[in-house]
This record gives sequence, C-alpha cells and structure tokens, in this order.
Amino acid sequence: MNIKKALSDIYNYRKYGLLGDSVRMDASSICQLKCAACVRMCADSKDAFGRGIGQGYLRFENFRKFVDENPWIRKIEFSNWGEIFLNPELKEIIAYADGKNISLTANNGVNLNSADEEMLECLVKYRFRSMSVSLDGASNETYEIYRAGGNFGRVIENIKKINGYKQKYNSGYPELQWQFIIFGHNEHELPAARRTAGELKMSFRPKLNAQNWDPAYAPVKNREFVMKEIGQEIASVTEFEEKYERNYENPCHQLWIDPQINWDGRFLGCCLNIYSDFGNVFKSGLTACLKSEKYGYAKQMLLGKRKPRNDIVCTGCPKFKNRHLPWKLGLIYSLGIR
Ligand code: SF4
Ligand code: SF4
Repeated sequence: MNIKKALSDIYNYRKYGLLGDSVRMDASSICQLKCAACVRMCADSKDAFGRGIGQGYLRFENFRKFVDENPWIRKIEFSNWGEIFLNPELKEIIAYADGKNISLTANNGVNLNSADEEMLECLVKYRFRSMSVSLDGASNETYEIYRAGGNFGRVIENIKKINGYKQKYNSGYPELQWQFIIFGHNEHELPAARRTAGELKMSFRPKLNAQNWDPAYAPVKNREFVMKEIGQEIASVTEFEEKYERNYENPCHQLWIDPQINWDGRFLGCCLNIYSDFGNVFKSGLTACLKSEKYGYAKQMLLGKRKPRNDIVCTGCPKFKNRHLPWKLGLIYSLGIR
C-alpha cells in the first residue's frame, strides 16, 4: 500500500469530496462510425441521449479554465461517448495538459479512424499517457461488420505511425491497448488479433459483448472456445451476472473516484448517466458540484444509507440493484470522512 498516495487521497476527499486526483471529461460526444449496437445509433436531439449528452466537443478555453482552477486534478480520462479525435481543439488541449504535467488517457476507447499525422505525433510529443483502441477483429471483413464506416487497415496504419513516433521521441507514451469486443462473428479471430497486438507492442483486452448495449446482438457461438481464449468460466455478460450476482462492470464507484463530466461541463458523476446532472463545473466550479446536496445524497443512496429519490438518476438505473461498491468506500463513509 502506498501510504503517501492513501493520505493524499483522504486529504482530497476531506477538502474537495473526491477520493484521489482524477476526473473523466468527455473530449467529444461526436462520432463518425455507425456501430451496430451503439446507443448513439438511435440518438437524435429529441431522445434521452440527444437531450442529456448532446453533440459537441470540449473547448480549449473551458479545459484551460478547469485545470487552472483545479490544480489538484492530475489525471483526466477523455473518452466516453464519442471519438476524441473529432475534437478540432484536441492538439491544443493535449499540449496544454502536458505543460501542466497532467496525465491524459483515453482508456474507455478510441476508434482511431480519423487522426492526421500531426495529431499522431502530438500524442507522443506531449506524452498522452494511454489509449485503448477498439479493434473487434483481425481483418477488415470482420472488423467492419460491427464498426460500420471504419477501416481496419487505416487503424493499423495509425498505430504503426504512433509506434514510429514513439521510436523517434524515445518514449513509451502513449501505452496502447487493443480492445476486442467478442461477438459471434469475430470470436474465431481472437488468436490472430492477440498475435497482431503483440507484434504492435499493444496489450490485448478481450471484452464481453453487451455490457451496456444489446445482449441479443451477435452473441458468441462457441462458448468453450471463447472461455478458453479469455481464461474465464463465462462467455457472456449475462452468464457473469448470473454467476456472480453483480454487474459485470460497475461505474457506480466513479462518483467517488473519477466522476464523469460532459463535454459542455455538466457534472454527470457516472459515465452511464445521460439523463440529469449535478451542476456544471465550467459555471459553478468542480468543488461546488462535488459538495452539492444532491451529489452527497446520491453517494449515500449508492451506499444504501438513504432511500432512493426521484430526482437522482440512479433511482431508475437497472444497475442500481446489483451495484457492488468497494468496501473501502463504505469504511470511509462509516468513519464520517465526507
Ligand atoms: S466508435 Fe464508439 S461511439 Fe462511435 S459509433 Fe462506435 S461504439 Fe459508438
Ligand atoms: S446506479 Fe446507474 S447511474 Fe447510478 S452510478 Fe450506478 S451505473 Fe451510474
């Protein structure tokens, strides 16, 4: 256990209401692909996604104001609903963050289909720390079944260019991950994708389908093969949740550790929240949002200490019932540190 880090986390929690020094900020909610099961596929300005998230990108001026006002924030995750590389101010943002020694990541995922040469160099030159590249297949024929509008060869070329710049700058950044969502139409390419990831010096992360999307879309065909490939005793999210009686991935802890901020500053708390916010960090500031009555109540609700309340998004969330929070959060609350 890193005592210095633990003390600093508790200090930040007491002072600002955040356990650590990280937030998630959507750099762009715009995307150029049309992935078959993406929630954005049915998005327009009238539905929940359109109203709650909207189409837009993080502006440099807002980013600069945010990091200048909150120098204790040291890590920012940029990817959530869209493709970060469609943000025309991203190069300026990355350079500014590096000047302040802030770690930027896109570990939730990028499709990497649209990044020019200057952008790829910028990632290395300004030490963008890590990135997860969505590549569900090992060939274009398979890849484009889900990533409609994308091109496998172009993404691989972009990865090779990043690797070239990493050599030029003698840098390990950005660390690259190959994220492979397992579908019935691509499961046979798991071994080839793993091999290619190794050749490209990428870590390999096979991911179960339908974590938040449509479990009926292209379910796995050969369960035994998939279980062997991923080294687990389950081959779908449904099987995981039945076996372990909890959500496969649980963003509820984000309210304490790395809360989500929309591209326009609305404080969402959780990366799955597309319905309502807890204020706007660009208008009233991050600390005011973190310490608001509604946000505090939401956290207590998630810990089971307060009754569900209709104005809090978690009340209507299907994940609320099966949430599984780290015991440390309960301990911190029990000790009255809030
Ligand atoms: S790349 Fe991501 S955000 Fe874009 S359409 Fe596909 S799943 Fe949705
Ligand atoms: S209950 Fe739902 S909306 Fe609330 S934090 Fe958990 S996943 Fe997010």
